[in-house]
Amino acid sequence: MRVVKFAIKGEPRWGVLDGPEIALFKGHPEFCDYETTGERIPLKDVHVLPPTLPTTKIVCIGKNYADHAAEMGGDLPTEPLIFLKPSTSLIADKETIVLPSISEHVDHEGELAIVIGSIAKNVKEEDVYDVIMGFTIANDVTARDLQAKDGQWTRSKGFDTFCPVGPWIETEFRPDGQLLETRVDGEIRQHASVDLMIHKVEKIVAHVSQAMTLLPGDIILTGTPAGIGEIEAGQTVEISIEGIGTLTNTVA
Ligand code: MG
Repeated sequence: MRVVKFAIKGEPRWGVLDGPEIALFKGHPEFCDYETTGERIPLKDVHVLPPTLPTTKIVCIGKNYADHAAEMGGDLPTEPLIFLKPSTSLIADKETIVLPSISEHVDHEGELAIVIGSIAKNVKEEDVYDVIMGFTIANDVTARDLQAKDGQWTRSKGFDTFCPVGPWIETEFRPDGQLLETRVDGEIRQHASVDLMIHKVEKIVAHVSQAMTLLPGDIILTGTPAGIGEIEAGQTVEISIEGIGTLTNTVA
């Protein structure tokens, strides 16, 4: 099931994608209320919103693919390396990544993202799918020059618009060899199986929930494979994950 959040006359609504149309939900997916109203609306006629419930935090995993860790240098983390992006960095599919004037080098990082569906603390690895609502696609946009200058990552990854997420939540997705591909103006930059992740989804959710309570709508970005690269104003970034779809954003 592909769960979509969108706006009708400025009001947020939820529904399930059915071909080219959205069947509207009566309730809110936070309560696993997937009953539909019978009302349908074409996907092309709505403004899609980030598929969040809302989000109290965006947790990210660093250096979780060996080939990306190699291109960044340094050692591989022995357990998931976590950092946060602010919720104000969120934007939706088809919205615009705005390059900050104080950075001269901004990179894309295509990533599989976990959407949390229920309150989670100290979750066991075998139970993580009880608290996962589904999966979506994210871009961990990073001002690479500021990341190096600051020596930590908060500012470089925290600018407004630096976390495109969407276009929807696929509730049935399970990572199993699907390809992640990032294209910039059609040129393939990243192309890797999500199976190459060092710390898997089970380990990541268990590990993060040991430190902080995860709430419905929280998002966990699972790390990026090799092939990160610079994005420039006027370009279009597409990130596709087999079984989920494609997240498309322009750059300005
Ligand atoms: Mg990343």
